[in-house]
Amino acid sequence: MDRKAKAVVCREWGQPVQVETITVEGPRRGEITLKIAACGVCHSDLSATTGKIPYPPPLVLGHEAAGVVVEVGEGVTEFQEGDHVVSSFISMCGKCRQCVRGRPVLCENARKAMYTLPDGSVRTKDANGESLNVFGACGVMAEYATMHVDNCIQIDKAVPMQNAALVGCAVMTGVGAVFNTAQLEPGSRAAVFGIGGVGLNAIQGCVTSGAEMVIAVDSNPAKLEMAKQFGATHTVNINDVEDAAKAVKKMTGGVDYAFECVGAGAVVEQAYKCLGRGGTAVVVGVSDPKDKTSLTTLTLPADERTLKGSWLGSARPQYDFPRIIKLYQAGKLKLDELVTSTYAIEEAAQAFDDMVAGKNARGVIIM
Ligand code: NAD
Ligand code: ZN
Repeated sequence: MDRKAKAVVCREWGQPVQVETITVEGPRRGEITLKIAACGVCHSDLSATTGKIPYPPPLVLGHEAAGVVVEVGEGVTEFQEGDHVVSSFISMCGKCRQCVRGRPVLCENARKAMYTLPDGSVRTKDANGESLNVFGACGVMAEYATMHVDNCIQIDKAVPMQNAALVGCAVMTGVGAVFNTAQLEPGSRAAVFGIGGVGLNAIQGCVTSGAEMVIAVDSNPAKLEMAKQFGATHTVNINDVEDAAKAVKKMTGGVDYAFECVGAGAVVEQAYKCLGRGGTAVVVGVSDPKDKTSLTTLTLPADERTLKGSWLGSARPQYDFPRIIKLYQAGKLKLDELVTSTYAIEEAAQAFDDMVAGKNARGVIIM
């Protein structure tokens, strides 16, 4: 059935987000409709409103949510009404070479579903009946969303929705960059550049994996304080040093792993530069399509360095989301502390402004 829902929409790049009442159609074959409970505000949502991530407007934002199943489409056997679900922006066909080798974030058919459902269509319409694109096959910054089952991960009902929501992006991305992409060894030395929702989770991923030193790098003193709460052993404020990479190198002798959680070629360069011999720099931040980076070529072979990317923490969502939640329930990952402000959906523009101002670990919209 069709449902009316308030939704946070990008109408035009460079303009503030708008809250509109939209229509969300019920599920088709292989889909379910969720009543969204909570949705985190990620820097990638902001990047979609500026065109840095060039998903065409009009676009329903949101890819980091938790909700309850309210309607189940034909052929769906794995979900029933009342189940609790976290959204995943990984569209995975399950059949291509990457999916079958266990790398669903690299699915060869995923690009067809960057701002639609996997079949290329949408279930969202505005008040004039015009179709609305949906961020990452999700569009969950809304009271309801209809999604493909492969973008929905069932979770334990005991987990508070506002915490569970963050597993869908910030936590999976940051923790997964450490667990899955880097496979950080205990006793390693690590640096994290950019202490937003993603970077804080990279820090706690390093701590949980047994890193010996974790250096947090940011320009915002409040973020560096948060980093310490999440287990960073040292901090570097980029405004207090001439060269952050050199400062990290001086403290550590060169790190085994550096995580770029900003989204800028200049910071990728720093992450690469602060590596020790045999080190790996993991690029998590999403930069402008025209952005570039440079590195000293000689250090690649002679130091056996690695530069690699990480998409949603190299997740296998159906395996990794429940695994992360179990670690939270066991007291090994912090989720409660990540939610530093909550907002009503009408306050969405404020939530984006607060992210730009660096006020939150994560701001979460409660539907
Ligand atoms: P955020 O806005 O919450 O945090 C960014 C942080 O970077 C802020 O604390 C800011 O002060 C800091 N920063 C800015 N410039 C810096 C610099 N030069 N050096 C050090 N720190 C600097 O953002 P977020 O939601 O944590 O997202 C971080 C990045 O990760 C974004 O680019 C986002 O698009 C990307 N992202 C990637 C994935 C993925 O799958 N790879 C998933 C989610 C988000
Ligand atoms: Zn995100």
